[in-house]
Amino acid sequence: MSDSDKTKKDDEYENYCYMCKRSEKDAGPFINLPGGMHICRDCMQKSFDSFNNMNFLDLSKLPNINMSQFMPFGDIPESQKVKKKKKKEEGKEDTEKKLSIKDIPAPHKIKAMLDEYVVGQEYAKKVMSVAVYNHYKRVLSDGADDIEIEKSNMLMLGPTGCGKTYLVKTIARLLDVPLAITDATTLTEAGYIGDDVESVLSKLLSVAGNDVEKAETGIIFIDEIDKIAKKKETRSRDVSGESVQQGLLKIIEGAEIEVPVGASSKNAMTPIVTMDTRNILFICGGAFPDLDEIIKRRLNKQSSMGFNADLKDKYDDEKDILKEATTEDLREFGMIPEFIGRLPMVFSLTALDKEMYVRILKEPKNAILKQYQKLLALDEVKLEFDESAYEAIAEEAMKRETGARALRSIIEKFMLDIMYEIPRDDSIGSVTITGDYIAGKGSPVIKLRGME
Ligand code: ADP
Repeated sequence: MSDSDKTKKDDEYENYCYMCKRSEKDAGPFINLPGGMHICRDCMQKSFDSFNNMNFLDLSKLPNINMSQFMPFGDIPESQKVKKKKKKEEGKEDTEKKLSIKDIPAPHKIKAMLDEYVVGQEYAKKVMSVAVYNHYKRVLSDGADDIEIEKSNMLMLGPTGCGKTYLVKTIARLLDVPLAITDATTLTEAGYIGDDVESVLSKLLSVAGNDVEKAETGIIFIDEIDKIAKKKETRSRDVSGESVQQGLLKIIEGAEIEVPVGASSKNAMTPIVTMDTRNILFICGGAFPDLDEIIKRRLNKQSSMGFNADLKDKYDDEKDILKEATTEDLREFGMIPEFIGRLPMVFSLTALDKEMYVRILKEPKNAILKQYQKLLALDEVKLEFDESAYEAIAEEAMKRETGARALRSIIEKFMLDIMYEIPRDDSIGSVTITGDYIAGKGSPVIKLRGME
């Protein structure tokens, strides 16, 4: 890269004070020193002050010390550089903006797009489409009048592998907004081993290519949120549960937060930027095991009282009981009220049944079997599955109890032989996978070219 190219590229990034690591935006104008170093006025003043206090020291008697060994005077690594905010030219519309109120697809269109990828979960798709639509409308109409629209942060309840993460990923991709996915179990209160809560913002910033403005309209998905429930009996300090919920409150609600760039916790070596989280959409998800018991207990108690008393155990066999969850139930589970209060949209996803597994194999635009069909079609081989094969794969997946995630590993296992053997023989024209083959009781039906 030529020198002028480098200077041009450097111009796109914020400068940082070499001592306190604050950006020029936060620390005021810098004093530029030779060698491309910048120091903020505070730090310069502090250095002068400390030199003045050191006049009793005869510096000439000190051994030769290379200060760069102690000070991080090197270049800040690429992953920690932050893009400058673009200055808006007066009277000129920002043409680069990806979304505008007119551009955001209406909820029914968002849902139709989700339908192409996510099978079933109709209620969840509907709630999400409306919430996301409202959220981005709110973002784009920001400050237009005095009525402040509340944030549509969400809480998704549902068993593992039923499509929670997949739904969020799909929606972020369709809307072309940055998405960061984190696991609540990795978060701890500041100062303890683990990631500070601000790390969720660092992640989003890095996904957005360190572009603060872009990150400020992104989505953050915090998975396994049930794992930071308050412990029932705690004698010791609860580092990973309640205090993490407390730590997340401010970020989720919307505030100006100091975020370490390119690192998961603040330390002297990392640059810090200020991020405004008001327009970041937070979606939390979790399986909430045992929440069903809490809900059943409440419902059974309600229905067995009064004149219209029902059977005492009426709800015991209800499959989709999570959809009945109330804030009170979540509180009993161990989520603190302030935390639930900041996630106004609570909804549940249903556990997958056999029919849904079969549909997941067949229907989505990028269904994994379709991908294999396309791969073999490039070799001019037709790959087919008969109905019994779909059923056998679905049954096998259900046994594993890890949701739709199991499908991929089952398919990859039996497709390995097919993908290895078929290209070896040019005369093969089509392969049909049967249920017997999946169950290990037979071989696929192979037809030669010209005989199909
Ligand atoms: P979790 O609910 O545990 O977050 P995921 O969303 O990660 O589960 O699901 C795992 C995988 O299963 C996804 O990557 C996706 O391919 C598939 N999957 C799960 N549910 C669905 C669904 N309803 N429709 C289509 N694919 C699904």
